[in-house]
Amino acid sequence: MRKLVILGSTGSIGTQALELVAGADDLELVALSADRRWEQLIAQADEHRVRRVLIADPESAEKARAAWDGEVLNGPEALAELILGAEPDLVLNAIVGSAGLAATVITLSEGVDLALANKESLVVGGDLVIELAAATGARLIPVDSEHSALDQLIASESGQMPGTVERLTLTASGGPFRGRSRSELASVTVEEALNHPTWQMGGKISIDSATLMNKGLEVIEAHQLFGTAYDQLEVVIHPQSIIHSMISLADGSSLAHLGYPDMKVPIAYALHYPRRVKLALEPLDLAQLGSLTFEAVDEEAFPCLGLALAAGREGGTAPCVLNAANEVAVAAFLDHRCSFLQISELIAATLDDARIEQTYSFDTLIAADRAARQATSEHLAALA
Ligand code: NDP
Ligand code: MG
Repeated sequence: MRKLVILGSTGSIGTQALELVAGADDLELVALSADRRWEQLIAQADEHRVRRVLIADPESAEKARAAWDGEVLNGPEALAELILGAEPDLVLNAIVGSAGLAATVITLSEGVDLALANKESLVVGGDLVIELAAATGARLIPVDSEHSALDQLIASESGQMPGTVERLTLTASGGPFRGRSRSELASVTVEEALNHPTWQMGGKISIDSATLMNKGLEVIEAHQLFGTAYDQLEVVIHPQSIIHSMISLADGSSLAHLGYPDMKVPIAYALHYPRRVKLALEPLDLAQLGSLTFEAVDEEAFPCLGLALAAGREGGTAPCVLNAANEVAVAAFLDHRCSFLQISELIAATLDDARIEQTYSFDTLIAADRAARQATSEHLAALA
């Protein structure tokens, strides 16, 4: 039995992971965490016989303590206590946003394998996170579907000469606004933006998918995970989301990873690695699909991808600033405090003002994250 901790178990990835764990005979769930949805969390804990949870929001933690007889952790040391105390073999980090960085750092510092859905960890602190995993020997298994696909494709070429894999192509569904011009995006609503055509996801990543910032974050994530130069990373729009990613090789061949869009596949791959488990899913029927289509990204309508690529290339604290500005702007959009197009404008303005530094330590990142949030909030206030 491998002991598993799921962080962010009340979210979209977390609940799907719990369904998979319920049917697994080799995983024992030992701890869970959430931010505010404490009732859902303790119901999950009861169902899966977990006696220890972390609730990040203090008020929610208090309510849970009053209502439940298990142990509820909260406070600055709670995350380390939860992870270290559980002595896990694997941690699934399914927290959303840069709030997930601390969990990534604590897990890898302990040499514990990490199934990573929280892509923001790699965007914000990729340089240090990858070094940490290398130093402790912990395995970092991506849960993001494109990166899970790339990880498998690259592994299939591991015996080859360096340089054999020439290019990585990440596919993007294009989100709910694919095909719309910039002017047509001026008045789109929160409800429209949340309505993703192929994936069911949490609010923040749904908006990131609508702006294409999600793909920008994913290019930075791929750069960090696979050490691939930005010139060798490509994005193509593929509305059906059947091809999850592709690698192009020196001999002119390309390898792709296919399947119906279902996050259970990459989650199960990460939870059971290196074993593949049987999932009750429809087999891929190409004749029924009929056609797969591809198109280039409209960079004018979706400037977030370009902003992310520029920040990735600049390096240092630039991706951290980009991410913080994006989190503040997306929260504002969800709260009807800015328009869809203002999301990218707020991020661009924050990056323009920011002093980009080398990332010597996680403290540098925490300071850059805080300063960027403040700057974006000021730009937001100036809009009103
Ligand atoms: P959700 O918004 O559905 O869930 C987020 C989870 O994080 C919730 O459990 C939430 O708790 C918890 N959380 C938020 N803040 C904190 C905090 N400060 N401390 C502890 N827990 C916290 O997000 P998703 O499941 O959609 O996404 C999770 C991550 O996975 C993101 O990084 C996303 O980019 C990535 N991802 C998601 C995919 C998807 O299909 N959904 C696909 C690929 C990647 P609470 O419920 O209490 O608010
Ligand atoms: Mg993805």
